[in-house]
Amino acid sequence: MSRIMITCPETGKPIYTGMNFDWPAIEPCVVQQGSLTCPRCGQVHEWRDREVFPEEDGGEA
Ligand SMILES: [Zn+2]
Repeated sequence: MSRIMITCPETGKPIYTGMNFDWPAIEPCVVQQGSLTCPRCGQVHEWRDREVFPEEDGGEA
């Protein structure tokens, strides 16, 4: 499983979107767009599928 991340445009840091997917199996229609309240800067960021990237579980988590 990979955690679906976006990059905070304010801080340039990765943010966890709260979703997990088996990345190779991910479908473009599954992760199309969304928004979340950024834990780093407190703003709401909207994102689209091309802006997300996977972060493997098992790192610092
Ligand atoms: Zn942010």
